Amino acid sequence: MSFPLPDPMRQALAAAREAAEAGEVPVGAVLMLDGKVIARAANATRTDNDPTAHAEMRVIREGARLLGQERLGGCDLWVTLEPCAMCAGAIAHARIARVYYAASDPKGGGVEHGARVFEHPTCHHRPEIYSGLGEGEAGDLLRGFFAARRK
Ligand SMILES: [Zn+2]
Repeated sequence: MSFPLPDPMRQALAAAREAAEAGEVPVGAVLMLDGKVIARAANATRTDNDPTAHAEMRVIREGARLLGQERLGGCDLWVTLEPCAMCAGAIAHARIARVYYAASDPKGGGVEHGARVFEHPTCHHRPEIYSGLGEGEAGDLLRGFFAARRK
């Protein structure tokens, strides 16, 4: 059975596709506030020569800039891949309310794998986490990208 993906995940997947076309690892994210997309970004570590320019970091920066505040407590973050430890840390600092991610990332993820940032007693904010929506599409994008690079 299949059903249409929620619009924010479709937009995050579109951003991931754009990243692949730009030669970046295809991960996309959107930040939602009151049901509206306030920021949309893809990985840009190569384009920006910035190892912190993950899609999640970029939408958090943009959202905080737009709202003129360091905390994004009313916001939800949608991303096509399980956030890494750096991004999970930023999500906690930003007080993001809910995180929706598509594919899990056993090698680089920091939510259900690796550092499991939100499970640490030193993590002062744990968002609600929802995973798996759109994981097929997100995984296909990543596998296609890395398969093409190995040729
Ligand atoms: Zn990250």
